[in-house]
Amino acid sequence: MDIRIGNGYDVHALAPGLPLWLGGVQVESPVGCIAHSDGDVAIHALCDALLGALALGDIGKHFPDTSDEFAGIDSKILLERVMELIGSEGWTVGNADITIAMQRPKLAPYILPMRECLAKVMGIGVDRVSVKATTTEKLGFVGRGEGCEVYAAVLLRRD
Ligand code: MG
Repeated sequence: MDIRIGNGYDVHALAPGLPLWLGGVQVESPVGCIAHSDGDVAIHALCDALLGALALGDIGKHFPDTSDEFAGIDSKILLERVMELIGSEGWTVGNADITIAMQRPKLAPYILPMRECLAKVMGIGVDRVSVKATTTEKLGFVGRGEGCEVYAAVLLRRD
């Protein structure tokens, strides 16, 4: 069995009055991510981890933010495409672990829906998808509520 690991990182600035999408789920929030796509910073970090595991570049290379095709796009579609790429080379996801750093709103009620959504899009069990949320104790740009930051790690396997 061959295995690979990948990590991904993404940040988006926050602004009032925009929808907030995280892990494929819409979160009730007074602020949302400024973005060319739907701004789902968690899915973007996850896509980068998946691509990184296979040294396939990053999300910006595959889905350029200069392209009209991706304007306002549902990031779940980007994740589906990344999964197709991975699957076409015979790889499956062993597990994914995602950490979202955001000062507010509280994300606890959304953790399970995010895990369920991501697991469904990736075609794996919910037990293989971890989503964690943390504040940064009011420190830095995350703590000041200026942005949302996400780290993702994945393990891929090919039998
Ligand atoms: Mg992004």
